Amino acid sequence: MTELLYLQDAYRKTCRTRVERVSELGIVLEQTVFYPRGGGQPGDTGIFKLASGHLLPITDTIYGPTREALHVPAAGHELPAEGDAVEIEIDWERRYRLMRMHTSLHFLGVALPYGVTGGSIGERRSRLDFDMQEPVDKEAVSEKINQLIAGGHAAETIWTDWEELDKRPDLIRTLSVKPPRTSDRIRLLKIGDLDLQPCGGTHVKNSSEIGRVIIAKIEKKGKHNRRVYLELADR
Ligand SMILES: [Zn+2]
Repeated sequence: MTELLYLQDAYRKTCRTRVERVSELGIVLEQTVFYPRGGGQPGDTGIFKLASGHLLPITDTIYGPTREALHVPAAGHELPAEGDAVEIEIDWERRYRLMRMHTSLHFLGVALPYGVTGGSIGERRSRLDFDMQEPVDKEAVSEKINQLIAGGHAAETIWTDWEELDKRPDLIRTLSVKPPRTSDRIRLLKIGDLDLQPCGGTHVKNSSEIGRVIIAKIEKKGKHNRRVYLELADR
């Protein structure tokens, strides 16, 4: 299985590694800094520098049929061979925006403490769907989330397992979403004392990196759901 380096360090942009496999679906590497699409976060794009010197654009990163991380190459380019050394680099500007977006959605979940029924992260606009019947005021939500973000809260990743979690009722109590009992290693995102939840995505280290956000729209989606759209103010 590919070693997913972004799980340890979301700020890592490059690495040198080797090609494990090339198929029509994509390229599998021994290690990667590319985030495969999942949990509402788009897959990374970027560039591979091949042993020949050729620069191969990567247009998406996805999970394959056996959960392998697949780097999707641009059509019409020279491809690497199995065992080749490659230097890989993500489109950091895009990824960093997605990290700021992703982390801001955790704050939106704190600002609106309702059940989350869906969501997606985009470069320009992101959204979360809430199980929320009563209407909420866009300006009030905007003020609350910006106040939270301005608080300079640390966002840290905690690796744990159920044995450890069962010994820490304080953590369990603050968990907004319960991870599945089946997974032996659980990755949690802890935002100061505000929020703790299982998440496999990439986040910024401190909320101050997000800057101001705009609640662009709140839409009623059926009787029990409201969809909240969020944008970064420096878009
Ligand atoms: Zn997350």
